[in-house]
Amino acid sequence: MKLLKERILEEGRVLPGNILKVDSFLNHRVDPLLFQEMAKEFRKRFGVEEIDKVLTIEVSGIAPAYAVALEYGVPMVFGKKTDSKTLGDECYTTEIHSFTKGNSYTAKMDSHLLNEGDRVLLIDDFLANGRALTGLIDLAEQANAEILGIGICIEKSFQKGGDLIRKTGYPLESLARIKSLENETVEFL
Ligand code: 5GP
Repeated sequence: MKLLKERILEEGRVLPGNILKVDSFLNHRVDPLLFQEMAKEFRKRFGVEEIDKVLTIEVSGIAPAYAVALEYGVPMVFGKKTDSKTLGDECYTTEIHSFTKGNSYTAKMDSHLLNEGDRVLLIDDFLANGRALTGLIDLAEQANAEILGIGICIEKSFQKGGDLIRKTGYPLESLARIKSLENETVEFL
């Protein structure tokens, strides 16, 4: 997606460890108009109209997933990383290893909020090694929801997540695919 790629080139910074910092529009400060355009692009690419829910994992998946949910006029549900007294006992749970933090956490989703047969789209900000998405797929599959598509804002294609997720057979759409971050330079696929 041209608009997103332009923003990455203008504002993205490459950090050590193959991390792309896009805090000025995606991960810290959020540009709602860009997110609106990304949501429209996902809808066009997936070509599905009838969906029930959009799923993601907190924190940075929430903004793009919310934009997609708004585009379709359906609820968005996110997996929670932190325990809370408001979270009931009946939850789907999955273990996820965080690429940016280097630790593992349990993501939980209240089982009343995701139902068998729900037609869902899974949305996240980045795809690196695919652990967050594998966890999200696991949550959706535990609920026997129907995964119609997986949408990613930025895929780092030089990491193994893209291949891993494409092997699941679920349709994967990434709005910007990065081939390399070597020499602190962003190169698209
Ligand atoms: P994965 O589970 O695919 O290894 O990593 C995906 C998650 O890690 C994303 O939800 C995102 O929050 C974070 N992440 C992975 N790579 C990057 C990156 O280069 N930049 C930023 N800002 N977040 C990343």
